[in-house]
Amino acid sequence: MMISSSPTTFFNSHNNTLSSTFTHHHHHHSISFSSNKNKVGPFCASASRSFDVVIVGAGVIGLTIAQQLLKDSDLSVALVDKDIPCSGATGAGQGYLWMSHKTPGSATWDLTWRSHRLWKMFAESLREQGLNPLVELGWKKTGSLLVGRSRAESDMLKGRVKQLNEAGLKAEYLSSSDLFKQEPDLLVDEDSTAAFLPDDCQLDAHLTVAHIEKANRNFASEGRYAEFYNEPVKCFIRSDSNGEVNAVQTFKNTLHSKKAIVVAAGCWTGCLIQDLFRNWGFELDVPVKPRKGHLLELQNLNFLQLNHGLMEAGYVDHAAMSGLESSDHGRDLSVSMTATIDAGGNLLIGSSREFVGFNTDLDESVVSHIWKRVGEFFPKLKTLSLSDLSASRKVRIGLRPYMPDGKPVIGPVPGLKNVYIAAGHEGGGLSMALGTAEMVVDMILGSPGKVDSAPYAVHRVIDQ
Ligand SMILES: Cc1cc2nc3c(=O)[nH]c(=O)nc-3n(C[C@H](O)[C@H](O)[C@H](O)COP(=O)(O)OP(=O)(O)OC[C@H]3O[C@@H](n4cnc5c(N)ncnc54)[C@H](O)[C@@H]3O)c2cc1C
Repeated sequence: MMISSSPTTFFNSHNNTLSSTFTHHHHHHSISFSSNKNKVGPFCASASRSFDVVIVGAGVIGLTIAQQLLKDSDLSVALVDKDIPCSGATGAGQGYLWMSHKTPGSATWDLTWRSHRLWKMFAESLREQGLNPLVELGWKKTGSLLVGRSRAESDMLKGRVKQLNEAGLKAEYLSSSDLFKQEPDLLVDEDSTAAFLPDDCQLDAHLTVAHIEKANRNFASEGRYAEFYNEPVKCFIRSDSNGEVNAVQTFKNTLHSKKAIVVAAGCWTGCLIQDLFRNWGFELDVPVKPRKGHLLELQNLNFLQLNHGLMEAGYVDHAAMSGLESSDHGRDLSVSMTATIDAGGNLLIGSSREFVGFNTDLDESVVSHIWKRVGEFFPKLKTLSLSDLSASRKVRIGLRPYMPDGKPVIGPVPGLKNVYIAAGHEGGGLSMALGTAEMVVDMILGSPGKVDSAPYAVHRVIDQ
């Protein structure tokens, strides 16, 4: 990474849409600007507000960081999003918080485990307040099954159960007859086996986001919290005196930060960071890539019985690597079966992975692919055709923030200690959210971390 202290105090990342010249008077906390009236575009008079922490991105990562700061510190928080919270990957999430596909000792193991414990404590705390976690979060302890269908997978699952037990988790290897007892609607033959984790849970992304938003808003009246939705962040502002980034600029507002700025912009984090820093001669390439996913939601499809959350054993490799079907140049489409029933009784089946840039269009061929794959596991579904379900189906599409080394990026930007990144959780952002939020907040507050943050450090993407 190159850090050169350029005298630029302001960078407008979208010069083509906004042609304003700004002068930033740091000491007076005011902004003056002159604009070219012909090209003003969507710019409104800029209001200037000041917070301790400004968070960019209101997906599950940004939202839970805000929640943690509001609960565990007395700092004030601004949450900014170019859109609204469920517009990103978060809104597409299936909501499983499972350990069955996680490998003890792997890069995200400790963080995921810690995070699941925090989710369970969170659900418990709601219960203690007389609230029902099922209603508030769509919380269900269904247990998870990682299902194998070959001898090789069965061996893998046996080894995995042993490893999970050694790591201290409750996990059971199910023979085909045990598996059939657990899931009568699953196609079980002599080679079908599973790893069963009875303590795994799931949540509903939309309910959980709504709950957290509501809880965060309770701090608004004390002046500790404000939301800036539908406001894309356009640039950072740097202080004249020490070169530190001390404000975030949207079209409408200048949000000063006294303590920290957190970029939690999911798959947009790489471009955003590059745009924000380009004119400073400061290059930081966060190689996060959008990995598109389709998930099928079948409303009230109660003729299929599902007692647990299910995932095919092949998911482990699909999530970790790029896909197996590389015929479509660079797209790397892969589909692996996941099935859950959400709090509202809807069957959620997924999911696909592919690299097609930032495109989020519905692709019927991918939906059919998922349908076919899931039908191989649940013969009952084969009696239905997708077109029969058109009235009761929804397709969720989201862009997972994929990191080539399989680990999220969490930590301060070297050389800019008040700017933090928390992004790149790929298919595990819901699962890792509370652990990530705790990690970021501990860093901001200078508290010791509960989980080693070194594997997630920003500098690893610079040193590559
Ligand atoms: C089909 C599918 C199923 C999944 N299932 C699961 C699951 O079961 N369990 C699990 O743990 N994970 C799951 N995931 C993964 C999970 O959804 C993601 O890891 C997680 O949502 C990432 O959260 P995030 O906050 O980092 O990103 P996002 O939710 O994408 O949020 C980023 C936010 O940043 C905002 N933003 C971007 N640019 C700007 C800007 N310039 N200014 C302001 N704001 C900006 C965006 O509008 C967006 O709201 C699934 C994903 C998909 C696609």
